[in-house]
Amino acid sequence: MEYNLHTHTYRCRHASGADREYVEAAIEAGCAVLGFSDHCPQFFPTDYYSHFRMFPEQLEDYVRCVSDLKREYASDITILLGLETEYYPEIFGRLTEFLRPYDLDYMILGQHFIGNEYDAGSFFSGSHGDDDKERLRLYAEQTIEGLETGLFTYLAHPDISECSDDGYYREQMTRLCKRARELGIPLEYNILGYVNGRSYPSERFWRIAAEVGNSAVLGADAHSPSALLNVGAYEHCLNKLRSFGISPLSFDELKIIKPDFGSALDG
Ligand SMILES: [Zn+2]
Ligand SMILES: [Zn+2]
Repeated sequence: MEYNLHTHTYRCRHASGADREYVEAAIEAGCAVLGFSDHCPQFFPTDYYSHFRMFPEQLEDYVRCVSDLKREYASDITILLGLETEYYPEIFGRLTEFLRPYDLDYMILGQHFIGNEYDAGSFFSGSHGDDDKERLRLYAEQTIEGLETGLFTYLAHPDISECSDDGYYREQMTRLCKRARELGIPLEYNILGYVNGRSYPSERFWRIAAEVGNSAVLGADAHSPSALLNVGAYEHCLNKLRSFGISPLSFDELKIIKPDFGSALDG
């Protein structure tokens, strides 16, 4: 693995291992670049708080620890400070305001929920149901809006959402893929999804991405240091992506977007 920009830490409460262990695993795996992109805090206006992300008060420590490791391991590996963030329109302004003082290297968009997560009508992007067509449409729409903020280096697990109607799936995912291509934002082939037998990476999604001509990256979505050492899974995913006619971008080809919160503020 040349690089991995999708790495979590224990702060999100569903990943394990010390930050340093991820760095050492990445070095052992031959990575030249390791990006930390833990689940970012969110600012919900009610008592609701999601269990799968760090708290706002943990960000300071996250930034300091990753920055310290960056300096300490500078001669062995390039470490980048990032976050995996949802785009929740109602509370995004508050989030960008909070993140502004921090010197983040990049962010990736991981649209786990549609709506604002805490409010009525919100739903998990990967859930199915009778209304799955409408859910897929809303997923495409909100994800595109998120990409259009210009803050994201790539789109994590773009194929998290599904719908049983094949024609409709093609229509909505073509729309998402085309917009990502226009914006020059690569799509992630998610290795964790393969390892855990999730619905993504999705064959039909990647056939569409190949037709549209999207660029792609492989992301370990590491929730433990050992995930970075799973060479079998990495190679399987690399070959799979190539079988669709897509070669993942090398690190030099990938455009890292440093978040500019000044231009993205929407209140
Ligand atoms: Zn996670
Ligand atoms: Zn994710």
